[in-house]
Amino acid sequence: MKRYSAFAIAREAFRQHKGWERAWANPEPKKAYDVVIIGAGGHGLATAYYLGKNFGITNVAIIEKGWLGGGNTGRNTTIIRSNYLQDPSAAIYEKARSLYEGLSQDLNYNIMFSPRGVLMLAQTEHEVRGYKRTAQANSLQGVTTEFINAQQVKKICPIMNIDGPRYPVLGGLWQARGGTARHDAVAWGYARACSDMGMHILQKTEVTGVTQEGGNVTGVETSRGHIGCNKLGIVVAGHSSVVADMAGFRLPLESVPLQALVSEPIKPCMDIVVMANTVHGYMSQSDKGEMVIGGGTDSFNGYHQRGSFHHLEETVRALIETFPMIARLKMLRHWGGIVDVTGDRSPILSKTPLGGCFINSGWGTGGFKAIPGSGWGFAELMAKGHSPLTAEFGLDRFREGRFIDESVAAGVAH
Ligand SMILES: Cc1cc2nc3c(=O)[nH]c(=O)nc-3n(C[C@H](O)[C@H](O)[C@H](O)COP(=O)(O)OP(=O)(O)OC[C@H]3O[C@@H](n4cnc5c(N)ncnc54)[C@H](O)[C@@H]3O)c2cc1C
Repeated sequence: MKRYSAFAIAREAFRQHKGWERAWANPEPKKAYDVVIIGAGGHGLATAYYLGKNFGITNVAIIEKGWLGGGNTGRNTTIIRSNYLQDPSAAIYEKARSLYEGLSQDLNYNIMFSPRGVLMLAQTEHEVRGYKRTAQANSLQGVTTEFINAQQVKKICPIMNIDGPRYPVLGGLWQARGGTARHDAVAWGYARACSDMGMHILQKTEVTGVTQEGGNVTGVETSRGHIGCNKLGIVVAGHSSVVADMAGFRLPLESVPLQALVSEPIKPCMDIVVMANTVHGYMSQSDKGEMVIGGGTDSFNGYHQRGSFHHLEETVRALIETFPMIARLKMLRHWGGIVDVTGDRSPILSKTPLGGCFINSGWGTGGFKAIPGSGWGFAELMAKGHSPLTAEFGLDRFREGRFIDESVAAGVAH
C-alpha cells in the first residue's frame, strides 16, 4: 500500500489524481480463517488491526452485513474523553484517548483528532459534588481533569448563558485533552491498515448463524455461505443480543435507539465540546460549521436507526436555556443508531460460554471514544486469553454482582 504524504498529494495533483490506489480490497471469502470478527464498525476493525499489529495474526476476516462504518461508528457525535469514575473504566478509556493522540500517524490516515477540550456542565448541587469526586478519582488514576467554576466556564465558552432560570451553570468538569475525531475516518483508517496486512473485509455479508462442535465454535453461516474459523469475535453493538442468540447464549443488555442532529453551518462560535447532563443534551461545532447536537435514547427498546420529532424538540428545548443562540438555527438532519446498554453502563469484553467465541459489546451511548483501547484490549484477550485492560469487564461480573457502575459518567447519552 502506498503511503499517504504531502509529496503524494503534490504528485497526484500533477496527474489528475489518477494514481491513488483503492483504500481497501473487496475480496471473495475464503473457506476458513484463523479469526473471524463479525461487525466492521470501529471496535471490530480496531480489534482486527491490533490482532495483526500486536500479535502477528493476519489470517482474519471482518464480516459486515452493510458497509463498513455504517453502524453506530458512522452515526455518533464523536466525543472523546476519559473522565470516568471507576478505575477499570479510566484505564481503558484513557488508553483509548492516548492512542487517539497518535492514531493518524500510526495508521498513516488523517482521523482529524481534535483535542479541543470537553466540558461536562454542573447545573445542580448534586452534579457539583459528583464532578468534584470524579476529578479527585481521575487525579488518582493519572487522568488529567479539573473542576472549574462558573466564571471559568463562561471564559472558555462565551456563547453560554450561565444564569439560566431553571439550571444556572455552577461549574464543570473540564478535560482539556478530550475532544473529537472524524468518525468515518477512524473506521476507514483501520480498514485500510487491516486490508494492507492481508485481512479480508467482507462487506454486504450478513452472518445468519454460528456453527459449533463439542462446545467450540467452528465458523459462521453467512449470506455468502459457510466460513470456518478457530476463533470468533462478536462486535456488533446494537445487534449483540441477536448474534449471541445465534451462538446460544444470552446477554444482560438492552438495545435502544439513540438520536442526534445537526444544524445548518454557521461561523465558528464554539471551540470546545459541552455536555449538559441535567438537561440531557450536548453540543460541539463541526469543521464545516454545523452545530452537532446529541440527545437521549428512546424510552423503549428498538432496532430502528431513525430520528423522531419529539426527541428533536425536547433536546433543542433543553439546550436553549444554556445556549440561547441556537434558538435561531435551522436544523438540517437528524438520525438514530442502535446502542447496546448494560445495567451498570459499562461494556462487556469477555469470553463466552461457547469455546473460542468472544464478545465485545455494551458500549451503549459512549463507545466511539473507546475504539482504540477496546480494540487493543480485545485483541489481546482473543490472542492470549487474558488482557489487563479487559479483565474486569467479563460477563461473570453480572453473575457475581461485581458491577462497574458508570451511571454518572455515562448518565447522558454521548
Ligand atoms: C447518535 C449517537 C451518538 C453517539 N455519540 C457518541 C459520542 O459522542 N461519543 C462516543 O464515545 N460514543 C458515542 N456513541 C456511541 C458509539 O457510536 C458506539 O458505542 C460505537 O460506535 C460502537 O461501535 P461498534 O464498532 O461496536 O458498533 P457499530 O459501529 O454499530 O458496528 C457494528 C457493525 O456490526 C454490523 N452487524 C450487525 N449485525 C451483523 C450481522 N448479523 N452480520 C454482519 N454484520 C453485522 C453492523 O452492520 C455494524 O456495522 C453514539 C452513538 C449514537 C447512535
